[in-house]
Amino acid sequence: MNPFPEILDNYIKYKNDVNRRARYVGNEKYFGASSANSCFRKQYYKYNQYEETNFTTDEAYRNMNLGTIFHDDMEKAIAHNSDGITSIDVEMELVVEELLVRGYADAVLETEDGKIFLYDFKTANAFGYTCLFGKRKGDIKKYRKKSYDLQLASYGMAVEKLYGRLDGMFLVFYNKDTGDMNSYEVAKQTYINRAREYWLRLKESIDKGLPKIDMKDSPREKWECKYCNWADQCEIDEEAGK
Ligand code: SF4
Repeated sequence: MNPFPEILDNYIKYKNDVNRRARYVGNEKYFGASSANSCFRKQYYKYNQYEETNFTTDEAYRNMNLGTIFHDDMEKAIAHNSDGITSIDVEMELVVEELLVRGYADAVLETEDGKIFLYDFKTANAFGYTCLFGKRKGDIKKYRKKSYDLQLASYGMAVEKLYGRLDGMFLVFYNKDTGDMNSYEVAKQTYINRAREYWLRLKESIDKGLPKIDMKDSPREKWECKYCNWADQCEIDEEAGK
């Protein structure tokens, strides 16, 4: 007898539900910054609160939960050891009101010389990590995820407004298979401009109704449909000519 998968899955669902109620209920008018660069059509279903037709597997939730545990530990670790840092905000709620974007930045640090730095933490498997931080030059440019860059840049907009400056923004990766850690800087102005353009075009598109499948914005990346929580809904609508 092995009751543990079910025990763990129930606990993860409970934690996710507590988190969802605390963070997102009552804030439905906002897009989640973590959904940056997603398919416009998917964003439409989510924004308009369509029931999900395709569900995330228990195994996927377990993997995502490892990321949550890593985030929780990083939060505690920063508070535990903060030499040279004068102020710290972790899991900080950030809103870009004019774009209707909202989310939680992993860490905003102020150094002794008054500089402000923004960080987002990501877990990766060995393959994804090695693609980014292997020995070949240019790999970060080749393998970086647009969604991570635009998510961070969306927080960056809010941080810059809130603090009056932003001196750098970074994605920090943890290799779940080897324990290695590494990071790269995301060029502030370039990606803030890209993130702004994405959110503006998305809003303009979904204000007109359900975006059509065009393989450009809907979906933005081919693999998205495989993991989409509205894939069946999308197919039904497509068959109905929508
Ligand atoms: S199935 Fe694909 S195109 Fe349809 S909403 Fe989902 S991600 Fe977008």
